Amino acid sequence: MSCIFCKIASGEIPCKKIYDDQHVLSFLDINPASKGHCLVITKKHYEKFNDIDPEVLVSLIKAVQLVSKKIEAELGPDGYNIINNNGSSAGQTVAHVHFHIVPRTEGDGIIQPWEPTSPEGSELDELQKRLRIENGN
Ligand code: 5GP
Ligand code: ZN
Repeated sequence: MSCIFCKIASGEIPCKKIYDDQHVLSFLDINPASKGHCLVITKKHYEKFNDIDPEVLVSLIKAVQLVSKKIEAELGPDGYNIINNNGSSAGQTVAHVHFHIVPRTEGDGIIQPWEPTSPEGSELDELQKRLRIENGN
């Protein structure tokens, strides 16, 4: 097992634990973007968000909110980002699914937003057709 987050989940590598339950573990990021930057991971190895089993997904997203509320109550940030990177093109460096919770301070400039684009309406119409979900599909 070479996955660093699997090693953290099994206790082989230590972490600054915030929370855990049957499916999920949360701990402080070792190289935080800001004070209180936490990670929430699944205990089971899934590479990406779309791989997660439904019951684990429910636990994971509930834990993200639990930790986020704790950060808000305890550290009182101006705001927070909840980030989940999937694939190296999206900035995923650890191939084990995880959410970041990054406390933010007004004007901290930590995360550069993307450059907005202005596609033609026809392009949006086409994408809407391709992505529209009806009856769960
Ligand atoms: P990603 O870039 O994949 O979305 O985020 C991976 C995160 O995991 C990074 O913010 C990085 O600092 C954190 N990280 C990587 N290795 C370790 C580790 O061994 N312990 C902890 N606590 N965090 C880690
Ligand atoms: Zn893993």
